Amino acid sequence: MRWSGLAEERVLVKGGTVVTMDDALGIIRDGAVLIEGDRIAKVGRAGEVEREGKPDRVIDARGGFVLPGLFCGHTHLYGIALRGALLNIRPPSDFLQILQRVWWPLDEKLTNEDAYATALAACIEMALTGTTCFADTYSAPNGIEGSLDAIARAVNEVGIRGFIAFEATERRSREEGERGLRENERYLRSQQGNAYGMVSVHASFTVTDEIVRKGVEISERFGCPITIHVSEGPNDVYHNIERYGKRTVERLEEVGALSRRAVLAHCVHLNDKEIAIVARHGASVAHNPMSNMLNAVGVAPVPEMLGAGVNVCLGNDGYVFDMFENVRSAFLIHRVSRRNPTVLSPKQVLEMVTVKAARAYGMKDYGSIAPGKLADVVVLRPRLMATPTTGDPYAYIVNGMGGADVRHVIVGGRQIVEDGMLLTLDVEEAERRILRTVERLWDRLGASPPEAVEPLRLGR
Ligand SMILES: [Zn+2]
Repeated sequence: MRWSGLAEERVLVKGGTVVTMDDALGIIRDGAVLIEGDRIAKVGRAGEVEREGKPDRVIDARGGFVLPGLFCGHTHLYGIALRGALLNIRPPSDFLQILQRVWWPLDEKLTNEDAYATALAACIEMALTGTTCFADTYSAPNGIEGSLDAIARAVNEVGIRGFIAFEATERRSREEGERGLRENERYLRSQQGNAYGMVSVHASFTVTDEIVRKGVEISERFGCPITIHVSEGPNDVYHNIERYGKRTVERLEEVGALSRRAVLAHCVHLNDKEIAIVARHGASVAHNPMSNMLNAVGVAPVPEMLGAGVNVCLGNDGYVFDMFENVRSAFLIHRVSRRNPTVLSPKQVLEMVTVKAARAYGMKDYGSIAPGKLADVVVLRPRLMATPTTGDPYAYIVNGMGGADVRHVIVGGRQIVEDGMLLTLDVEEAERRILRTVERLWDRLGASPPEAVEPLRLGR
């Protein structure tokens, strides 16, 4: 294993088409990226970058594309434990029942070992499929304290980056919400490596104004992002209208939750007035098209949000961790729902998973390939070169490529994936540990059937 844990001095990624995602630099054919330490030093045509002197190592990108590492703007790493799970439940028939019968019972069984093992699995999968940064919110009412340390350990072992948070909720009690926020605050004081802290509040329909205000206060004090699920299903809208006489975004505005630091997940059921409010406060939206299709909640008004100037990034919501699949879904879902093939361009959806995700989470030095930016770079090469890669690279990537085409991944100047193999840890050994842990979790899930939790009893 060549990986030493340290960024090499000078690495040159050479050949191929550099898709910088930087407005000024655009697309560079037969390009090269020179990395010094953890930063990008120079980007340009290969011949011209090579004149900068001899690198310590050269990574060959010929015949492929060089992209910024993808950034998943909303996930639940532990969602990977549901893959293929046989759940002994009455099939849910709407979104609230999906939460009550699938997600919340899972949350209640989770231990810190589960947090670590599922984070390890999800981070390995993201690294291998070209995602180098993510924003995760974790939920486990019976395993709150220390859970973020367990997740941070997995993130740092795999060698990618992530914003991690515990999802504060008052599903069961006010105290549960307070403990969730305290875990975020505790972790924010002792952030480890490339696992950055942030604040997460579950959703408008499971928290009181006090918990939202406290979450906002913590995010202001630490200058970190705050994220909340917003009108993912219609139940959130009904809840807010019934209890507060307002729609979800109107209530969040009144409580002071909207700012440039806020990332609102989903926003499927927003009307034009709410979109204007989000835009006015400069809050970002994390769009999760694959999860929205899975949960049958509807199609988010992304074209309207973009039209209003909202910063929209892309997440997987803990469903499919290959972000190229999520990119393609974002590209397709609005076309079919509007029956309009021009509604979103391939470049626009790639922006959502690079520069716009970085902007959502306040990472100014991230999301594009440009001098001075953090050197998180992915080399993609199609397994089968059926057509030349000299045409439109955005269309080629969005229509034709996936995580399996990821050859090399560099994070902060150090290569963590080479020829499709993870260099940072022994994947087979990790797999054995993950499987042992998830099998035990599945046993616990099967052993005691879930008890329904009514979010609307939040009326204390
Ligand atoms: Zn979510």
